[in-house]
Parts: sequence; structure tokens; C-alpha cells
Amino acid sequence: MKKELLIIGSGFAGFWSALSAIRQSRELKKEEELQVTVVNRDEYLTIRPRLYEVSLEGLRVELNKYFKPLHIKLIIGKAEIINTEQNQVTVATEHGTRLLSYDYLILSSGSVLKAINIPGIEKTFNVDTFNGAQKLEDHLVQLAKKNFSGDGASTFVIAGSGLTGLEVATVIREKANKILADHHQKPIDFKVVLIEKAEKVGNYYSEKAQDYVIETLKTKDITVIAGVTLDGVSHNGARLSDGQFIASQTVVSTVGLVASSLSSFFKGEKDKQGRLHVNEYLQLEEHHNVLAAGDVANVPVDSQGNSSVMACQFSMFLGKWAGHNAVNGLFGQALKPYNYTDYVTCVDLGQQDGMLTTGWERTLLSSGIEGKTIKMEVTTKLIYPAEDVQTALEDSYPEVPNVSQSAV
Ligand SMILES: Cc1cc2nc3c(=O)[nH]c(=O)nc-3n(C[C@H](O)[C@H](O)[C@H](O)COP(=O)(O)OP(=O)(O)OC[C@H]3O[C@@H](n4cnc5c(N)ncnc54)[C@H](O)[C@@H]3O)c2cc1C
Repeated sequence: MKKELLIIGSGFAGFWSALSAIRQSRELKKEEELQVTVVNRDEYLTIRPRLYEVSLEGLRVELNKYFKPLHIKLIIGKAEIINTEQNQVTVATEHGTRLLSYDYLILSSGSVLKAINIPGIEKTFNVDTFNGAQKLEDHLVQLAKKNFSGDGASTFVIAGSGLTGLEVATVIREKANKILADHHQKPIDFKVVLIEKAEKVGNYYSEKAQDYVIETLKTKDITVIAGVTLDGVSHNGARLSDGQFIASQTVVSTVGLVASSLSSFFKGEKDKQGRLHVNEYLQLEEHHNVLAAGDVANVPVDSQGNSSVMACQFSMFLGKWAGHNAVNGLFGQALKPYNYTDYVTCVDLGQQDGMLTTGWERTLLSSGIEGKTIKMEVTTKLIYPAEDVQTALEDSYPEVPNVSQSAV
């Protein structure tokens, strides 16, 4: 009987886990003895980092283009229950419930936008999932049809000034004006308001990088309201914790990410984002046949106390490592300790502008058009799998250099 490797979620981590598992099974000459099965909500690898962009075209990669030729089984459905005693996962599919057994499991179900408990939260938009980004775009199309007329129609409120908040705030005008142009209408001078809970935006950056962000927001005429939270949303505006009401028909929540709720099926302490702590081989201490990779995993990355962050650069590498180690574990080979330590951030700051930082202090390395070019190089090329399946397979080695590094 073949050994079963089950992978839940096929974002960056799950996709690369699957390819890496096949590659390693071939190296061990065990391909015929292994079945890799992936459960994912849909048939795509969604390029989440680009969901804030002006156009949603090309942001999904068809999984079966890679999986089919490699005999990776893709099941479209939602994993609902993980039974670690029985080594089984219950999956809800269009055709009913399925019970899948595993010898090894890789949990790579990613993260979701943090829920905030405020009245009218369902009226907010997001760029967390492809459907969320599509809903925002459809809404802007509806507003464009009425030339963004009406109370608050031409004001966009963005709640949360993390990297995604900065990207939405600096790009949404261009997106709305592109939609207007598609409808043969003239551009509008939209108002953009960025809400931040902390006293200052960008406090996760080094001083220089933070100053650059603050200056850019000023130059781009983005109103920043700091030291407040979003307290409620109605069809025509946002209420803030200081009592202000901002008339807006488009409130976008970018308040941060939390790990997939599937992490709750595992015992043990989680970090403040709900992520599972894993050992250097990406295994859960209580269940060595379960590995976690991507946004759902917290992996120590150095002796200074830094651990992985929810980002593609980690998710891709963790995936490659997890697939490799799962196969080695299944066939009695030594596991490979995770050893990727570098960290960069790239942020899009709208037309002609972007910023690259390096290291855990997030030191400013490039900005302006140069920063933008690097950002686009990373997100439109380097985080995509190679077109050719064989090349993608070769790229699935854990040792393959960090894509962000090779962009710098
Ligand atoms: C707008 C935005 C901008 C970003 N920008 C950047 C950036 O510039 N740089 C960067 O490094 N990172 C960025 N990120 C973060 C990056 O996208 C994530 O770190 C990365 O996607 C995580 O990969 P993952 O594979 O762990 O999870 P995900 O990409 O979240 O993939 C998880 C997959 O699992 C599926 N899934 C979840 N639950 C289940 C279930 N129960 N059953 C079946 N399938 C399930 C999901 O549908 C999805 O396909 C950004 C994220 C967003 C939302």
C-alpha cells in the first residue's frame, strides 16, 4: 500500500510542499510508494500579495497544471476536522463529506484577516482572498457607473496601516480611476483616509523607513488618522473610536492576519497570531507525523529570538522544507533542520514608489522608483512557480536561495 501524505491548503506553503515531496520521493526512488493528496478550497494558487493591485488579472495559478503531471491528487473542499488520534481529516466537498487518512500531514492552511467585533463589520471590504478583492472591485465598478456621486462615494477609508494597508491606501485611487477610464469617464480626485490604532503609522519600521512612509503618505495626499480604531461601519460611513464619522461607501479592513482556525485541532501553546510552534524540522512536538508550514507555523529562525513571519518568503521556504521532511520521515531518512534566516520586506507605495527594507530592524535599502521596481520584480515574477513543471520541481529544493534575496 502506498504511504499517504496529506497536505491541507495550497497557498505558497502547500503548493511548494507538494512539489518538494514529489521531488524528494523521486530522489529516494520511492515515488511509486507515495500518494500526495492536497485539499484546497479552490483549484488555484492565489498570489495573495497582489490582491491590492489595480487589476486582478493573472493573480491565480491553476494548481492542476503542476499537480496533474506529477500525479498529485487535488481535492477541492474544506478541511473541517482533524483527528490526530485516528490520523484522519474530514473534508466537506461539493459532493458530500469525505474522510481522508494520512500517514503524514502537512498543515498549510494559511491565515485569514483578523475579525473585528464591531457593528457593520460585514459592510467592510478586504483584499485578503481573491473573492474579497473581486467583491471590492465589483463595488467600485458599481460606484463608477454612478460616477462616484452620492454621500461618501468618492472617499475610501482604509483601517489598519500595516504593509497591506499602506498598499491599499496608495493604490486604490489608481484602481478607481482605471475603472472610471474603462467606463469612458474622467478621473476623479478621490479622498483616501488611513486609520491607525498606534500613535504613528509604520512603527514596525526602522526610523528612516518609517519617515519615508509618513512623507510618502503626505505627498500622496492621504489623510492619516492615528491613535484611533474603527468602531462601526454603516452603508454610508465609518465611525471611529474618538467619535468622528467619516462619510464613505468604501471601508476596507486591513487590520492584520491570524492563523487558520485549523491550528486549534492541535494541543500546545499557540503564538499571539494563533500559529503553531514547530520544531526545527517543522514537526509538532506532540505529533511528529504532522508538520506545519507557512502562515500557520511559527518557526524559530535564529538564536536572537526571531521567528518566521507571515510572508511569502517564509511560506515558500517552509513549504519546500515541509515536503522534503515529510517524505524523509515517511521513508525513514534523516530530516533537515530549517535554516533560512534572512528577512526583507517590500511594499508598494503607489505610482512610481515602493520601498525595500532589510533585516529584522527593517532598515531602508531602496525606495522610490527603484523600490517599486524591486517590489514588482518580486511579486510579478519571483513568487510565481516557473511556467515549466520540471523547472518548478527543481526549484522545490529547500536549499534554493531566497527569492527576495535574489531580487536585491
Ligand atoms: C493583500 C496581501 C498582501 C500581502 N503582501 C505580501 C508581501 O508583499 N510580501 C509577503 O511576503 N507576503 C505578503 N502577504 C502575505 C502572504 O500572502 C502570506 O504570507 C502567504 O500567502 C502565506 O502563504 P500560505 O501558503 O501559508 O497561506 P495562504 O496563501 O493563505 O494559502 C492557504 C491556502 O489554504 C486554503 N485553505 C485554508 N483553509 C482551508 C481549509 N480548511 N480547507 C482547505 N483549504 C483551506 C486557502 O484557501 C488557501 O488556498 C500578503 C497578504 C495579503 C493578504
